[in-house]
Amino acid sequence: MKGIASQLAFFVRGRARQNLKVLLIYFAFLLVMMLTYATVFRYLMWHTEGREFSFIAGIYWTITVMSTLGFGDVTFHNDIGYAFSGIVTISGVVFLLIILPFSVVTLFLAPWIEQRLRYTPTLELPANTHGHIVVFGLDSITRLFVRKLQGRNMNFVIVTQDYDRALKLEEQEGLKVVYGSPTDAGVMRHLRVESAQYVVANLSDPENANICLTLRSLCDTPVVALVGDPEHQVLLQQAGANHVIAMPHILGRFLATRATTKGAMAHVLDTFGALQIAEIPVNGTPFAGMTLAQSQIRQKTGLSVIGLWKRGQLTIPTRDTILDDESLALLTGSSDQLKSLEKLIGDPDEDDLIFILGHGHIGCAAARFLERKPVPFVLIDRSENSVCTRHQPILGDATSRQILMDAGIERATGVIVTTNDDSTNVFLTLASRHMHPDIRIVARANSDENVDQLYAAGADFVVANASVGTSILMNLIDRKASVFLSEGMNVFKRGVPVALVGKDIVSSELRDTLGCSIVALKYPDGHMDTSPEPTAVLEPGVSMLLIGSAEQEKAFDSRYPHSPKKKFAE
Ligand code: AMP
Ligand code: ZN
Repeated sequence: MKGIASQLAFFVRGRARQNLKVLLIYFAFLLVMMLTYATVFRYLMWHTEGREFSFIAGIYWTITVMSTLGFGDVTFHNDIGYAFSGIVTISGVVFLLIILPFSVVTLFLAPWIEQRLRYTPTLELPANTHGHIVVFGLDSITRLFVRKLQGRNMNFVIVTQDYDRALKLEEQEGLKVVYGSPTDAGVMRHLRVESAQYVVANLSDPENANICLTLRSLCDTPVVALVGDPEHQVLLQQAGANHVIAMPHILGRFLATRATTKGAMAHVLDTFGALQIAEIPVNGTPFAGMTLAQSQIRQKTGLSVIGLWKRGQLTIPTRDTILDDESLALLTGSSDQLKSLEKLIGDPDEDDLIFILGHGHIGCAAARFLERKPVPFVLIDRSENSVCTRHQPILGDATSRQILMDAGIERATGVIVTTNDDSTNVFLTLASRHMHPDIRIVARANSDENVDQLYAAGADFVVANASVGTSILMNLIDRKASVFLSEGMNVFKRGVPVALVGKDIVSSELRDTLGCSIVALKYPDGHMDTSPEPTAVLEPGVSMLLIGSAEQEKAFDSRYPHSPKKKFAE
């Protein structure tokens, strides 16, 4: 079925689409011609022979004569009629039996056959290929991932056993493809896996396990597997995967931590030795509405507020920035410092209640995360989740206002919008915002193209599946040369450039001139200052941990090209 669909798809793309229009115009011309003949037939029959025929009979006569079938059951018996029948037969031969098949062949069949004959899929990579990334399974995550690799001029190859997919990816999208079965050891050898930099397994969980086992029988190349079901994580590790990424789990956690409004504990995004980077919603904390200086977070806990997220925008705060109710604060410091912040904020408020719209893989993962906090939640899904026996969601379509009202949405403090359909997610965001202007809405974007729409519909935070997945993959490939915080924001590590040696953080003017800021300093003896004072001096041999966008990171590197890039483990 899929094969037929992809064949038919050929006829509605590019040149073929133009040709299809020409053909449709031709059909319209034939139709008008036949209707005219049927009308003339009835007129002549009535006026020359006094016989009356219905319009359907006229059409029937025209078809049998034009197609040269000529059953002979309805015929003229006079000269005008004979002449007319002759004209109809000849035009039928010309327009129906010659021009029509000819145009179908030249406009569609010939280009289709030509394309298939011309395309010979690549079956193996050159023997000297090395340092490439082998990708099994192309979905929205790996598609964005290979686009990023292209942007960096890194070598990759996509493996598919679908001939038409290979043709489409290679011929139309210009991607490097090898055609073959992903679990065949011979194909693996042809992919030169032993000299590859990384293998990304992104098919079904059983296929991924098979890929890992086949690969391990050949070489030690690191492999990262993306699992659908978090419970399969251990199996894939046993099969030889070096990293297993459980996307539903990660996305569920991202959504859940950003949805809790009050008393939610700081959520650690990443750790670099002693340094932790965490997020905390401002709402419900004693600092809400204060400026950063008034909050005294640094004085009371030792933590630095390095960023403020609001509606998808990250700003780097100054002393006078107001800690807005609707924002999330991005903090750095040690785990003890985070604990003292949690103490300062106090116990979770009891009236926190989160609505989770969609109880699929991701919604279920979000619910499990909230359970651990614990934060109460209500799940709504239009169908049962076959893999979850733990939760009992309200069954119903979340787009129905009645369902949401009956479930008590007016008591909710946050909503997690996580269906598998982005239009539904946009609609649910709009509806939740309309019903509840103050609620915190966190939405999932299945496609990156819908992120802006979700923000426009009123979401406070949008978590885009593909961006999150791609960033995790990129960080693995980079072995953490920079760490993704959210769309477009990285933490990166560099040695102090010669030009800045001896200056303190303020006079380095990194924030003013490049926009990125220093969040930690690591000294040659291994000691890490996780909240350096603005007066801390940049000494030679010190490593700086910086936060900034991808552009700011690039700008840093072009201004200080000799500043050594450091791995986070160093
Ligand atoms: P998953 O992609 O595994 O997270 O699944 C998404 C979930 O969203 C599925 O369980 C769907 O049944 C659910 N879903 C999709 N549309 C709606 C809707 N309009 N109302 C409620 N649930 C929905
Ligand atoms: Zn569940």
